[in-house]
Amino acid sequence: MRPRESYRRVFASLKRHHKWFSESIPLIASENIPSPAVREAVASDFGNRYAEGWPGERVYAGCTYIDEVEEECMALARRLFKAGFADVRPISGVVANLAVYSAFSDPGDVMVAPSIPAGGHISHGKKEHSGTAGLVHGLDVEFYPFDAEEMSIDVDKTRKKVDALAKEGRAPRIAMLGGSLFLFPHPVRELAPFLKGHGAHVNYDAAHVAGLVAGGLFQRPLAEGADTMTLSTHKTLFGPQGGLVLGSKEHAEPLKKATFPGLTSSHHVNNMAAKAVAFAEALEFGKKYAAKVVSNARTLAGALASEGFRVLGERRGYTESHQVAVDVTRISDGGSIEAQLEKANIIVNRQLIPGDIRAGRNYLRPGGIRLGVSEVTRLGMGAGEMREIASLIWGVAAGGMDPARAARRAREMRKGFQRARFCFEGSRGAYEYVRMR
Ligand SMILES: *Cc1c(COP(=O)(O)O)cnc(C)c1O
Repeated sequence: MRPRESYRRVFASLKRHHKWFSESIPLIASENIPSPAVREAVASDFGNRYAEGWPGERVYAGCTYIDEVEEECMALARRLFKAGFADVRPISGVVANLAVYSAFSDPGDVMVAPSIPAGGHISHGKKEHSGTAGLVHGLDVEFYPFDAEEMSIDVDKTRKKVDALAKEGRAPRIAMLGGSLFLFPHPVRELAPFLKGHGAHVNYDAAHVAGLVAGGLFQRPLAEGADTMTLSTHKTLFGPQGGLVLGSKEHAEPLKKATFPGLTSSHHVNNMAAKAVAFAEALEFGKKYAAKVVSNARTLAGALASEGFRVLGERRGYTESHQVAVDVTRISDGGSIEAQLEKANIIVNRQLIPGDIRAGRNYLRPGGIRLGVSEVTRLGMGAGEMREIASLIWGVAAGGMDPARAARRAREMRKGFQRARFCFEGSRGAYEYVRMR
């Protein structure tokens, strides 16, 4: 193929993607749609610059305005999360976690973290699963005991397990809380003093729930006893793809060194500016947004249960976050349902759920699907739309509805929801393709 033809095809695919997403029901729990203001910052010349080091102490010239924005960005982050220290340079949630591992542990140390079916993330994982903690930093990962009825970490069993590890001389140096399948707050208050008593540094991974925490919901990890908090800036928080690490002033020096020169050279300076924009939006609109997200998730969960699905966390009202987890083992498997729903323009992800590994299921055909309502909430959807989405999902997954018919209904439904809400300004459509050539 001629280069010009490849070039043309890239843009054709990009445009088709934009159109598809403008006609779909986007329910990936780790995704969101940023404001036009965030997209503008991402497209700026900051993205072509280096700003190694700290504002005022850069390694290169040309950083005058970058420094202004980065100071503002750090101040906004500290205010949004009520933290004494923020490093806005980690380029992703994984890199933020690695900064904490590097700053507060050495290879060979033990870390306790949730397993993947219990909500853990690959960045918390063991070396034999190619998890970041084990593979990249050499941590020896132990999993928390998990209570599948409560859908949370089992506090009593954790105390026993950590006491036993300490007796063997393997007390954890890092305790990771937070996760990817994350319906209910983790027992930070209950466990942090105990874990610290064993010498652990307690980090709370708020990658998923950062937008809720910023809005004053879910939990307040730093106030509840976590030493540091890491997060992604693009999940419930509606910023650009990126990461952030927060703590108190005493954590500043080791974290700064871990981020640079340890883990970044370019820190994607355009995305740093876009983070500042998103933090300002979250300070202004975050409370209303977070409340709407959680109420939509509860409505969707209840509606899915009424349709006939087995929704996890039933005993506790299904969810207190943006997520809904559904056990689909009575119907088929998460992989097949994910594929069926995609044909219906309903975008979800298959999900390992507690009990899957014991039952011999793996990530290709796990027992669950996970749904997140951040993006549809950002578009302005409410309870009525949640019930309609639940009925479409049931129809396609279990009721024999033709996916093409469901896709037409999804497209119809999306007609009234084409702009990002909870932002200062912006007349562009949320999924509008902006041509610069
Ligand atoms: C998504 C996620 C991450 C990784 O974030 P990226 O920004 O994609 O690198 C880390 N931890 C948890 C719990 C996550 O869900």
